[in-house]
Amino acid sequence: MIVAVVPGSFDPITAGHMDIIKRVSNLYDKVIIGVVVNPSKKPLFSLEDRVKMVKEAIRDNKKIEVDSFNGLLVEFVKKHGARVIIRGLRAVSDFEHEFQMAQLNRRLNSDVETMFVMASPEYAYLSSSVVKEIAQYGGNISGLVPPNVDESLRDALA
Ligand code: ADP
Repeated sequence: MIVAVVPGSFDPITAGHMDIIKRVSNLYDKVIIGVVVNPSKKPLFSLEDRVKMVKEAIRDNKKIEVDSFNGLLVEFVKKHGARVIIRGLRAVSDFEHEFQMAQLNRRLNSDVETMFVMASPEYAYLSSSVVKEIAQYGGNISGLVPPNVDESLRDALA
């Protein structure tokens, strides 16, 4: 059984995340979404809320589980018996940081492979930050986030 981990801040989960998660879940036996604590990024949503939103968004897919972590990603991967880290690539600008992290993670644990999934063109411009920015100014974010997130964002910013 091959288990893949999709790590991220998910502050909040967007349609772009959902797209890569769904595509990846067709390739692996099990997918663990790893919501990272990451206080240095000053998230809008608490860890609990981010996990809750991801859980609600993926609840129809039995192959996907959600967990959170603090600390080294490779330790989280090992804890779940996974062998693959999945990261999404939107633009060339994502590449440098992703390349560095993949190399470092391989150095920390060479049994774990990082695989990259290209963003679908319709979501290539989408990030949690732009969604928050649009929502903050009252713009329409339907279609950019799962429906449950649309509601939570409006509540959070009200
Ligand atoms: P991080 O803080 O780890 O970058 P994010 O929640 O921003 O966490 O992203 C998690 C993962 O999802 C990353 O691999 C990122 O590249 C990917 N991702 C984010 N938005 C999109 C998108 N629109 N399309 C495809 N992948 C995406």
